[in-house]
Amino acid sequence: MSGVLVVAEVRQGALRDISFELLAGGAQLAASGAGPLRVLVIAGDPAAHAEVLNVPGVEEILTVTSPLEHFEAHLQGRAVSEVITQLQPAVVLAGHTVDSMGFAAAVAAQLNLGFASDVVSLSFDDGMLQAQRGSYGGRLVATIDFPGRERVMALVRPGTYEAPLPGGGSATVRDGGVTLQASQAATEHLGFIEADGGDIDITKADFLLAIGRGVEEESDVEKMMELADAIGATLVSSRPLVDAGWLPASRQVGQSGRTVAPKVYLAFGISGAVQHLMGMRKSQTIIAVNTNASAPIFGVADYGAVADLHDVSDALAEHFGS
Ligand code: FAD
Repeated sequence: MSGVLVVAEVRQGALRDISFELLAGGAQLAASGAGPLRVLVIAGDPAAHAEVLNVPGVEEILTVTSPLEHFEAHLQGRAVSEVITQLQPAVVLAGHTVDSMGFAAAVAAQLNLGFASDVVSLSFDDGMLQAQRGSYGGRLVATIDFPGRERVMALVRPGTYEAPLPGGGSATVRDGGVTLQASQAATEHLGFIEADGGDIDITKADFLLAIGRGVEEESDVEKMMELADAIGATLVSSRPLVDAGWLPASRQVGQSGRTVAPKVYLAFGISGAVQHLMGMRKSQTIIAVNTNASAPIFGVADYGAVADLHDVSDALAEHFGS
């Protein structure tokens, strides 16, 4: 058998964005010859999610009813495992999220699947899946293949793919044929506490002004914040500025920060280390300002200026009146 199976993620009764991002990734693999794209949704009322999951490219939506109101890793693992055994898909995609970490590796081990977590890119050529992820503590990006594995499960980092608009497809919906019982759960849901998402969700912004170590003084961060406001951008940064405590971790872009894909990414004084590029290279338009013409950021930039960031920011501030 072949095909791509996406495991949708439901939290607090709602589909999470990662579900749609995975459908975008799955559709790309399907178009490259990996076989039909299916999505599995496990929830108290899974059919309620079918209409929005029915995006172009999805052939089938499989539903499994959970007897519990909230996600439970053992029930989820059981359902995913049974559906993989039935369908024998070549590729299984789930989010690199706290929920998937509760069941995915165990299912992969149980079914002898190839496995990769925190995947930032996938390709399917000549019948072979390749995944990219950070390696050696994030010091390099490794391309992984899965020799000897007929089926592979990949946990994809949120933000890797642009989510399609919900609905609009022609998929069929059917029962996944798995019966779950509450007694199969091994954990108890005590409550839900929303994590502190920081002062802003930078993954949702269309225009990011990113500053790096080229901004040498902490006092300049305030100036950059004002400039960002004036030009309609959201201020983000590379890791050194977060490590220095100049900006909160919620504004860090990169491998150990957030993955972003805005319409415009304007980078001031950022060298373009691989760990930074992993978090922003899918931006639609990248503009780099750096005094060093050899900085790697220019390798991914659509537009670049070999210039002092302060000169450029002063000119922008004057033009936009910050
Ligand atoms: P630098 O590399 O020091 O670059 C500063 C740039 O500013 C230089 O190119 C310089 O030419 C330019 N410059 C200097 N003055 C000016 C000026 N006046 N005008 C214009 N340009 C100027 N980094 C991240 O960003 N995000 C991550 O999530 C992340 N995760 C990591 C995870 C691991 C496991 C590891 C090992 C590292 C991680 N890093 C991360 C760190 C990463 O390796 C780099 O050290 C970091 O991205 C460098 O930040 P930078 O480009 O701001 O600084």
